[in-house]
Order: sequence, then structure tokens, then C-alpha cells
Amino acid sequence: MSQPTIESILNEKRLFEPPADFAADARIKSMAEYQALYDKAAADPAGFWAELAEQELHWFKKWDTVLDWQPPFAKWFSGGKLNISYNCLDRHLTTWRRNKAALIWEGEPGDSRTLTYAELHREVCQMANVLKDLGVKKGDRVGLYMPMIPEAAIAMLACARIGAPHTVVFGGFSADALRDRLNDAEAKLVITADGGFRKDKVIPLKAAVDQALENNAVPSVENVLVVERTKSGVPMVAGRDHWWHDLQPTASGNCPAEEMDAEDMLFILYTSGTTGKPKGVVHTTGGYNLYTHMTFQWTFDHKDTDVYWCTADVGWITGHSYIVYGPLSNGATSLMYEGVPRPSNPGCFWDVVEKYGVNIFYTAPTAIRAFMKMGEAEPKARDLSSLRILGTVGEPINPEAWVWYQQVIGGGNCPIVDTWWQTETGGFMLTPLPGATPTKPGSATKPFPGIIADVVDLDGNPVGDNEGGYLVIKHPWPSMMRTVYGNEERFRRTYWEHIPPKDGQYLYFAGDGARRDEDGYFWVMGRVDDVLSVSGHRLGTMEIESALVSHPAVAEAAVVGRKNEITGEEVFAFVTLESHHQPSDELKDELKQHVIKEIGIIARPADIRFADSLPKTRSGKIIRRFLRNLASGEDIVGDATTMEDQSVLDKLRQGA
Ligand code: ATP
Ligand code: MG
Repeated sequence: MSQPTIESILNEKRLFEPPADFAADARIKSMAEYQALYDKAAADPAGFWAELAEQELHWFKKWDTVLDWQPPFAKWFSGGKLNISYNCLDRHLTTWRRNKAALIWEGEPGDSRTLTYAELHREVCQMANVLKDLGVKKGDRVGLYMPMIPEAAIAMLACARIGAPHTVVFGGFSADALRDRLNDAEAKLVITADGGFRKDKVIPLKAAVDQALENNAVPSVENVLVVERTKSGVPMVAGRDHWWHDLQPTASGNCPAEEMDAEDMLFILYTSGTTGKPKGVVHTTGGYNLYTHMTFQWTFDHKDTDVYWCTADVGWITGHSYIVYGPLSNGATSLMYEGVPRPSNPGCFWDVVEKYGVNIFYTAPTAIRAFMKMGEAEPKARDLSSLRILGTVGEPINPEAWVWYQQVIGGGNCPIVDTWWQTETGGFMLTPLPGATPTKPGSATKPFPGIIADVVDLDGNPVGDNEGGYLVIKHPWPSMMRTVYGNEERFRRTYWEHIPPKDGQYLYFAGDGARRDEDGYFWVMGRVDDVLSVSGHRLGTMEIESALVSHPAVAEAAVVGRKNEITGEEVFAFVTLESHHQPSDELKDELKQHVIKEIGIIARPADIRFADSLPKTRSGKIIRRFLRNLASGEDIVGDATTMEDQSVLDKLRQGA
């Protein structure tokens, strides 16, 4: 029996070719080259990845088997021995990159630091020795709760060097959230800082660690290592707490990298919790190293002269794969910035681009929409001409925000790479290759070579062109998650059982709705959990939101369903306005008419509520499940600990 599919209502037709001079100089220069890679990989995925693994990574010992697939459990390069910190550091030291900048760091107060590959290698080895001295052994988990400072990357690489899986918890999470994650991972040691700077305030990280560990609430933790960042004079618990600067500088800078099996665990990372309770996603060493290496290289068309900047926090998968491991494995210069745009300096991102001559810039739609709301004055006041590629990740990007990014930040001549992927996938799954793929605003375009993606119904049957359905991946890929930490059952249930295997082939269920157009381009339509059902039509959220955002008065929109006795559900929209517009009933009517004009009567919002801000996760994604509760006048249900700002919900309630 076939299920009703999700309908597609967006009608975006703009197409942007890669600039000719860009393509001429790119690693992958045309769609013909992309297609040849894609076909080669599809014909023999294992052979494709094995060839790249041999060519691009250093192995202490070659693998026995490329792929061992016992659904839903995959093993890549089993028997192979490598160390990702060796691939990110040691192997560059015998080349000219020895004295190349590996990390450029800028602190929020304006302090800065650059570490060459040789310097970073030394600091990582010293830290690795400190960890060993504190009793951390291969296989032990280490919790990180850090600001965006070089020590965060050093700590991750030091863990990887000795084979101790890290679990990084974003520094914006509360003590409670930290405690849960440390307990789930049974961390033996925690690395933190006295504090971090964010929006001109000190975030008291050490205090939150103390609170999380109070009354022996995390019995596995034996030691806490503390970086002095804000000099806020934190109390230290004797016997448990140690200053980084007391131990690290005097430790030996010689620490050979542990020979890890390709399938040894590299890290656990909890998802951002947009749809519910976070999952402890497990990644292993070899496949993850290879896949983040290749996706960084091709999607960002990496050149050795590039300064690359990803604005994510290391607490998210984007920070893991595309601030630390992918870039450093390629010998790139990766910029880390501690700050975020704030009232005292809303244009700080553009200061950083200008100061360091950033060539590749990677950020999230939530940031782009915030920049749009601020207007063009800030970016126009800086020289952004060094930029050559712009990237986006985290949510579907509304076509209007895409075009603004391309025009105002990119000056009309930077390819945009809209990368669709997840904590679970480890690296980019759907993405343009900037010298090859003509882009369409709002589409993550096509699968990376080696990825077989499809849009299917709940029985696993492919749906037709432009029909919405469920985004799935059909063949294992090297950086796929291996399990949910300590919960195999949840791994199976969440990702492999919504859609049954089709003709013996297992389908990875991403949890996102999508459609594929007549040119084979994928359009992610939002979370399956957020799909609306209006008069029998099942609609994704992104398309209606994009219609709203294309109105000049609208900065951001979130659409949810509200129960309606006749239609099943009706469209309820929450809207934030551009700074110079005022809420009014006339504007409500105008916005409803605008949606009808853009996509049709079926998507017309029954009600619109104006808001100052929308509930978001700490990684900046809109949380629609709370808005659904609000729209229906219900109490908020479910875990709210992943929310950035709890007061947003109160304000929204008052606005009812
Ligand atoms: P949880 O799984 O706990 O609800 P989460 O899904 O927000 O949290 P992440 O792994 O950080 O945690 O986010 C992955 C999700 O982000 C994707 O499933 C998708 O919904 C969204 N996403 C990421 N990049 C894009 C993109 N380029 N276009 C559309 N959606 C994207
Ligand atoms: Mg998810």
C-alpha cells in the first residue's frame, strides 16, 4: 500500500552557472567531470573509496577488507591501521607545510594567535602526554566543554592521538545537559576553561562543570583539566582539577601517534536536538578521516593558498568535520573565531574576513537571515573581495537568503555551496562542487560522488520527479555513523526501520523530506516530523516559509500546523520582521495574499503571529515542535534543554 507523499509547492527557477574563470582553475571543472566521478563511484563504491584512501591518507598498515556491510552495521577499511592526528599533523611536517599556518585564531576581545603545523603538532603531543599522565588510556572517553579557542582543537587532536574518543559538548549547554551527556558517554576526564567570551560576556564554563559534577553526579569523571581563558578566578577542587598551563607546557613534545584500527571509535557527538532528545552518534577513524578529507577538498575546491573559515562551533559536527579534521587532513589553513555578531560589533564577521583575507567562508542560514535583517551597511563597509566560495549548512536556506548571500557577501561572483548533511552522516552528502555544478537557490543540488541518494515513499518506492517524499541513502558510505552510543536498538529504530529494506537493499532514513526535480536536483523540504497536512495535502515547512521570507518585510518565518476540524490542519505562521517594519493587521493580510500569489491557496496561512524572535536550538535552528504547541494553545511538551534562549517562548506566549 502506498502512502501519500509530501507535496512540493515551491517554484524556484533561477540558475547560476559557476563563473568560467573559477571553473577553469577548479579541481573539478565541469558537470562532465562530476558525472564521470559519480558514475565510477556508483559502479564500484568500495573500489572508488579504496583508491582514494590509498592515495590521500597515510596508513601504518593497509586494510584487509574495504567494506564489510552487515546491515545496518558497516565497517570500512577493517584491519587497516592509521591515526587521524597523524594525518592531520605529522605527515605535513616533512613537507613545506611545516611552517604553514594550520590554525589562525581570533578571540572575541581581539586577541589572536596563529599556530603553524609544527607548532600545533608540538602542542598536541604535549597535551597527549598530559592525558596519559592523568591515566587516560586508549578507549577511555574524554568530555570537552570548551570555548572557541585553539586548545579545543588541540584537545580533540590529543585525544585522537592516544585513541581516547572525545565527546565535545557545546559550551552553550547548561550544567544539566552537560551532566547527561558526560554520564551517557561515561567520560573519564573533562577538559574545560575557566570561561569563554561570548557577546561581550564571560560564559562561566568551569562553574557549569562544577555543577554538573556536584555530589559525584558523574561517577566516571576522575580529573578536570582547565584552560585559563578569562582569568575569572575560578575555584579548583584539590586532587580533581588541574590547570592546563601547569601541565601542558612542560610535558614532552614527543608522543608517537597510537596505531588505531580504522574501525576504532574516534568520537561520540550528540545531535543538536531539533526534533527531540539528542542521540550519541558514534564515528570511527578511517572512513571518517577519508570522507571528511575528500568532501573538504572537492566541495571547497581547496587550494594550498586558501584561508578557510567555518563559523560553526567545535561543539557541532560542522566544527569537528570542517574546522578540525577535514581541513587539517588536507594541510589547509583553518580559521577559528571565538566571537559571534553582537550589538557592540554586528559586523565582526566582516572584520575577520577583511583582516585575514578569508577566501572560503562557511556559515548557517540563521546567520545569513540575521545579516539580511541588519542590512547591507556592515558588509558594504568592509573589503570582502578575497572571498571566492561561500558555504551554508544547518537548515534549508530560503532562496531569498541564498540570493542575498550571493549578491551582497559574494559580490555576485562566488559560487554558493549549500551542503546538506547531518551529525550522523559525518560529512557532506548533497552538495554542489563549486567549479562544476550550476546552482539553484534553495537546492543542495546533487549527491557527492559515492553517495546514492533517493526520494522514496514509506514503502521504499522512488517517487516521481518533483513529488515530495523521504530522503534516503542507498549504499553505505565511509563516514556513516556506526551506532547510537550504548543503544543499538535506538540506532535501528531511528534510521533503519521507518522504511523497510527494498529488494534486499537497506535504506538510511535521514528524517528529512525532499523532492528531486527534473534535472536531478534535490530540494530539502524540512523535517519529516514537521510536515503539515492541509485538506489531504502534505506540505513541507520550508517552501511556505520561503514564500514568506521573499516578502520584503519578512526577516524570518516558521510555519507549523494547527488542528482544524475541516481541513485536518491549517497553516500557522510565526514571522519576524525586518528592522524597519511594524506589525499590523494590514501586513498580515498582505502576507497571506503574498503566499497565495507565490505558491497558491493551499499554502495560505490561516493565522500569522508576529514575534521578535523564534525558538532556536543552540546551533541556531528553528524548533517547530514548540511552535506547534503554542499555535494550538497547548503547554510546551518535551525537552527544552537544547534551546538557546528560554525567554523566547514566554514572549511568544504573551504575544498570543
Ligand atoms: P536532532 O537530530 O537531535 O533533532 P539535528 O537534526 O538538528 O538534531 P544535526 O545533525 O546538527 O542535528 O542537523 C542535521 C539536520 O540539519 C538535517 O537532518 C537537516 O534537517 C538540517 N540540515 C543541515 N544542512 C542542511 C541543508 N543544507 N539544507 C537543508 N537542511 C539541512
Ligand atoms: Mg537530526
